[in-house]
Amino acid sequence: MALTATAELLTDASRRGAGLAAFNVLHLETAEGIVAAAEAGGFPVVLQLSENAVKYHGALEPIALACIDIAHAAAAPVAVHLDHAESEELALRAVELGFGSVMFDGAALDYRDNVAATARVMRRAHAAGVAVEAELGRIGGKDGAHAPGVRTDPGEAARFAAETGIDALAVAVGSSHQMAERTAALDLDLIARLHAAVPVPLVLHGSSGVPDDLIAAAIRAGMTKINVSTQLNRHFTAAVREYLRAHPDTVDSRRYLAAGRDALRAEAQRLGGLIAGV
Ligand SMILES: [Zn+2]
Repeated sequence: MALTATAELLTDASRRGAGLAAFNVLHLETAEGIVAAAEAGGFPVVLQLSENAVKYHGALEPIALACIDIAHAAAAPVAVHLDHAESEELALRAVELGFGSVMFDGAALDYRDNVAATARVMRRAHAAGVAVEAELGRIGGKDGAHAPGVRTDPGEAARFAAETGIDALAVAVGSSHQMAERTAALDLDLIARLHAAVPVPLVLHGSSGVPDDLIAAAIRAGMTKINVSTQLNRHFTAAVREYLRAHPDTVDSRRYLAAGRDALRAEAQRLGGLIAGV
């Protein structure tokens, strides 16, 4: 229970052939809703903060320390992860703060620079007992620069994992970040080939665009960590919008944020249960 190492949750899920829900924290209410969902649903969860979320808050520490504190107090196993850090400095700061894992996103670099930068982050992270996730093959959508047709090559992924010694690998298999609808088609055959070729747990980014049955099929094919942000955001914002429509004179921001948090919690519990297979 409580704050748990990401590596432990990844290993456990991967041994059981289950998924590990990794939900993005945008602000305090998201973290509270996600952890309440994990406690009620009886599954482990990864709270993840992206470099973009850190930019929104203007600093890593306040929101990161809040997440770590919420994880400590949780009645479910909760890991804290830094998602999509393109800055080595930010990744190292998260290591110092006590995160269970960091994702160093060197996908914009060429292969050799990505290996070198990932290895630098790895040395510092592993010395502190922190796991590292890396990405190979740009996952589309995030900055509009990459077509959803991008795929990770299993041979290159195996070589990258061996050369860097990473703990988890984000792969491009058809999903795309920030999809408005859940209509993505995943290449399940490629997932199975990546799973056979790569000895570390695989990470699916952009899972908000993937329908439930396909998330379950991706886990069966060998995916472990399932990253979800937009889908939870969608439920949060719809509830806030509905609350303000029904109560147009509201002044106290806690009223509509609580409605958002409740809706997010319900969807996180439903989706987290599906991912964990509980
Ligand atoms: Zn991502």
